[in-house]
Amino acid sequence: MNRNVVAGNWKSNTGFNEAKSLTRAIAEATGDTESQVIIAPPAPYLAALKELCGAALALAAQNCSAYDMGAYTGEHTAQMLADVGVSHVIVGHSERRQLYGETDEVVAAKVHQVSAAGLHPIICVGESLEERESGEHMNVVKRQLQKGFFDVLDAAKAADVIIAYEPVWAIGTGRTASATQAQEMHLFIRQWVHEAYGQMADRMPILYGGSVKPENAEELFSQPDVDGGLIGGASLNAADFISIIKANDKWITAN
Ligand code: PEP
Repeated sequence: MNRNVVAGNWKSNTGFNEAKSLTRAIAEATGDTESQVIIAPPAPYLAALKELCGAALALAAQNCSAYDMGAYTGEHTAQMLADVGVSHVIVGHSERRQLYGETDEVVAAKVHQVSAAGLHPIICVGESLEERESGEHMNVVKRQLQKGFFDVLDAAKAADVIIAYEPVWAIGTGRTASATQAQEMHLFIRQWVHEAYGQMADRMPILYGGSVKPENAEELFSQPDVDGGLIGGASLNAADFISIIKANDKWITAN
């Protein structure tokens, strides 16, 4: 797996036509990128957009069921996503934790489902403002990693994981973690992965998410343990998203 990744989380945005144009524009720009580029459009569009992605652009879902197929009205399983060409699933996004009450246990069940379907989980972790201000941020992230990752996946499965560090106070707020804050947490996460799983920590993509824009991407991505980004708002604009991908590519090429 490429350690350098830029992923766009479209959340509950875009009409179908807009989603198709955005996918086409991003697919066109990803043929020769150094970074693995991933888009996570709304679930109803996934199967149709797969046709537009081409070989280089990967498709992610923003969520999946915590269960296998069965009587779970409104849910889509990880296997259903795999069947239509999805390769990655975002799990544990703070909006799901906050707005839909997803606990560490639910996150763990979803990570298990994603992994069992042979897909890559993009596991989101991150602290609230209150937790950062009380100095608890590292303990919070460690607990999320332990319960949603280590307790669920053995070393063979762990190698497929992408981690996204997304401080909740930076998501959609325009407030970004400083490059120093991001690097400090990313290093902490990498050391945790090292202790949990050994050398694979050096190959695991650890993405930063939280108000990444073309203006701040280069500084964030230039940190040694920031391998790219999970981008929300700025991924809805093809030019901005492509410029963020280029910022990551520039750093890779320079090193
Ligand atoms: C996100 O929701 O994953 C995110 C990082 O959003 P934004 O870039 O808009 O802060």
